[in-house]
Amino acid sequence: METSILLFDVDGTLTPSRRPITPEMKEFMKEVCSRVHVGFVGGSDLPKIHEQLGDELFALAEYVFAENGCVAIRKGQVFSEESISEKIGEDNIKQLINFCLRYIADIDIPIKRGTFIEYRKGMLNVSPIGRNCSLAERDEFWKVDSEGKVREKFVEALRKNFSHMGLQFSIGGQISIDIFPRGWDKTNCLKFLEHYQTVHFFGDRTMPGGNDYEIFASERTIGHTVTGPEDTKNQLKELLGIQ
Ligand SMILES: [Mg+2]
Repeated sequence: METSILLFDVDGTLTPSRRPITPEMKEFMKEVCSRVHVGFVGGSDLPKIHEQLGDELFALAEYVFAENGCVAIRKGQVFSEESISEKIGEDNIKQLINFCLRYIADIDIPIKRGTFIEYRKGMLNVSPIGRNCSLAERDEFWKVDSEGKVREKFVEALRKNFSHMGLQFSIGGQISIDIFPRGWDKTNCLKFLEHYQTVHFFGDRTMPGGNDYEIFASERTIGHTVTGPEDTKNQLKELLGIQ
């Protein structure tokens, strides 16, 4: 039985939000990888996480979990893939998409663009304005949404019609709603780490409602809240006794 692994959220924990890891942080994490087993878990897809962390760290990590573990990698090799369509079935996916398209068609907001539904491995990302709006249009939608509760009402309608499918509906970011099977938050990757006695988890959004909350609060992990990459580094130095 392996003793322990240090598991890290990516965005805001190892890297600035949506940005690549800094060269200094990369060097530091290489040192960490030489001392203990390290894993990364992010909500983004695999290419995005790979791009943020770079080839070297990617190769040194024991595990990498993209899309909260829907794509699982051990020592650089994908060993497990799950998708929302396999989980809930094509017929249910179809009903869900048809409903969202009709619902979006009937929403009266000032601007609509394109890509109203993005199918990802572990979730559907649904946006009333459409994902390929500009930054200014995104801000504009956000105002309209805050006042008119566009997404809140959408989520209510989804809950009413699809509660039997075991789904979670979450309002995330500025313009969209995430729909995913219940339990497919970051705790989804813990089933691959049962051979470790101790799992330390480091994340920046560990408060209730944050995307690290469930794994942070899980009794399987020892949770560490960080304020950003620099804080992660300081806490690791303390934990591992690195000078
Ligand atoms: Mg984060």
